[in-house]
Amino acid sequence: MELVAGIDLGGTDTKFGLVNRKGDLLAYRRIPTGPSLDHTEFFNQLSDQIKKMLSSLNGSYTLVGISVGAPSGSEAYGTIDDATNLNWPRKLPVRDILNSIFHLPVTVSNDANAAAVGEMLYGVGKGHDNFICITLGTGLGSGIVSNGSLIVGTNGHAGELGHVTAVLNGRKCNCGRRGCLETYASARGIVQTVLETDPKKLKKSVLSNFDSEELTAEIITKAACQGDSIALEAFQFTGKILGKKLADTVAILNPELIILTGGVSKAGNLILDPTRKYMKEHLLDVYKGSVEVELSEMASKKTTILGVAAFMWLKLDQQKKQSA
Ligand SMILES: [Zn+2]
Repeated sequence: MELVAGIDLGGTDTKFGLVNRKGDLLAYRRIPTGPSLDHTEFFNQLSDQIKKMLSSLNGSYTLVGISVGAPSGSEAYGTIDDATNLNWPRKLPVRDILNSIFHLPVTVSNDANAAAVGEMLYGVGKGHDNFICITLGTGLGSGIVSNGSLIVGTNGHAGELGHVTAVLNGRKCNCGRRGCLETYASARGIVQTVLETDPKKLKKSVLSNFDSEELTAEIITKAACQGDSIALEAFQFTGKILGKKLADTVAILNPELIILTGGVSKAGNLILDPTRKYMKEHLLDVYKGSVEVELSEMASKKTTILGVAAFMWLKLDQQKKQSA
């Protein structure tokens, strides 16, 4: 059976797996991306793990392609370009690096676009021709499906909603600008929101027990589930900023659905409810009742890996058709 290695390369962790043509994930692993790790060392480690994973499967399997989804991944050039959350060279030739190791076809795509393709083929985006998939991870990524097709743009970087301005002269972003949406609506953003709380107020919260190095979105989620008012406020604030920006985005793309996925979306209604509320409040009348925000049902099922792998299956199919 033919398999594709789907790699979801994130700012914190890299998740990868072996996927068959039907979209079944047959093996799965995760390694830290480690922003400080040298990229050569990282890709060597990743390749070793993929080879080990393949040999651990029982049965006859052949790896036919490698597909990488990464922040600022460019399908056109096979590179990762200026990834703000990775401390790597500005234009990293990932396609060439992996091709020289595996001698197989390699595709590189934007991770958020891959998540959207995963949702379109296997998730809640199925049957929808116009939707936006928002990945709330270390940063914020977005993939846009319009009239049934993924929008990729001139050089593969369409849909960078993480870097639209949400707050004028707001928080400093890793991209060098200020007030980008991902500095508020992301795992890192919600942590920053808690850290910026008035110290007197924060004292009453369990979150005051963590310093800036220790505090994570997971800890804030847990505290919110236990009724901690500072954690609950942080989710409200995050949903407010995200919801308002989504209302603007609806005015550009007129989607029927917005899907929230990624680590922060696992907080469920804590993030969904305020995002819905504030998006709806700020929608132009003409869009009211025609667009909904939903959580991905696949956040825990590694949608991005499946979407990334789907990119390669589509490419292999096209090659077959061309050579037929
Ligand atoms: Zn930015």
